[in-house]
Amino acid sequence: MYDANLLCDRLRELNIERNAPMRSYTTFRIGGNADVMLHPGSSSDIIKAITEALACGAPYHVIGNGSNLLVRDGGIRALVIRIGEDMAGIEQDGPVFRVGAGCLLSSFAKETINRGFMGMEWATGIPGTVGGAVAMNAGAYGGEIKQVLKSVNAVVDLKQADLTVNDADMGYRRSAFSAPGCIVCSAVFELKPDDGHAADREAEYRLRRRAKQPLSYPSAGSVFKRPAGYFAGSLIENAGLKGTRIGDAEVSELHAGFIINRGKASAKDVLSLIELVKIAVREHSGVTLEPEIVILGEDA
Ligand SMILES: Cc1cc2nc3c(=O)[nH]c(=O)nc-3n(C[C@H](O)[C@H](O)[C@H](O)COP(=O)(O)OP(=O)(O)OC[C@H]3O[C@@H](n4cnc5c(N)ncnc54)[C@H](O)[C@@H]3O)c2cc1C
Repeated sequence: MYDANLLCDRLRELNIERNAPMRSYTTFRIGGNADVMLHPGSSSDIIKAITEALACGAPYHVIGNGSNLLVRDGGIRALVIRIGEDMAGIEQDGPVFRVGAGCLLSSFAKETINRGFMGMEWATGIPGTVGGAVAMNAGAYGGEIKQVLKSVNAVVDLKQADLTVNDADMGYRRSAFSAPGCIVCSAVFELKPDDGHAADREAEYRLRRRAKQPLSYPSAGSVFKRPAGYFAGSLIENAGLKGTRIGDAEVSELHAGFIINRGKASAKDVLSLIELVKIAVREHSGVTLEPEIVILGEDA
């Protein structure tokens, strides 16, 4: 066990938070405290913090907007590097955009449309950061990050590196950019000039989300990956699980692929519900569901 106070002392020149409540940093609004959270302003902050964490024997995790995360109730015994608004700049050179990893994906998508480009409309309403979207190869409505991503600037093994998409083996909700030790700091995208309909497509996707997703409750989006040949939501609905509840965690009535937090759900409630759903779907259809969400931390 490392000494979190010592780590804080070594990081005192950086923007750090002791005992950061992860429920405030995840869209599920669930999770215990992280020992130490860094809010970096640059890749050198990240390198400095990881160097000190390693010297103290502290593990570390990187997060973005926490929109694909479930943090357990006992919190995280580690340094959490939260890349957010302090690394969120957008630079443009014609159709090429360099975007800070902490920029919200939706804001970037909107900005590209305002500036006369298309290719990011599908990303509207995805509540993650650019860094998280690159790491997860986020996608929706037939679009995905890898279609528009050119390269990434990342901290890898304590050094800055420029990596191309070809280095990253990007597939369905996965990429090598999420490997341990790789921290995306910025990403370069190349878009096409607007065909005149980008804003219409963006508006249509936004409406579809509002109609089909339980956006008034905290959640982490679709809990399970889409199994080949199926939709997780339909499998869960067909197993009769809509509305199934453990504590305050509930399989959404609106979209069975979502688990919502009806107020005071614990991570334990959500994890028990995930197990219940997996077992029921396997019995009903023979398909084994695999979580898409990333689970961090310790039980209470
Ligand atoms: C209502 C709702 C709707 C959603 N709809 C969609 C959808 O349509 N399509 C979709 O793909 N997802 C969707 N999601 C899930 C989520 O928004 C995406 O996966 C998003 O890309 C995660 O980004 P984040 O910044 O929140 O990452 P986090 O949740 O903070 O982290 C997710 C993973 O990415 C890693 N990571 C984060 N930042 C970095 C970084 N800078 N460098 C390296 N690794 C990093 C983390 O270590 C973690 O493993 C939805 C979620 C919600 C709540």
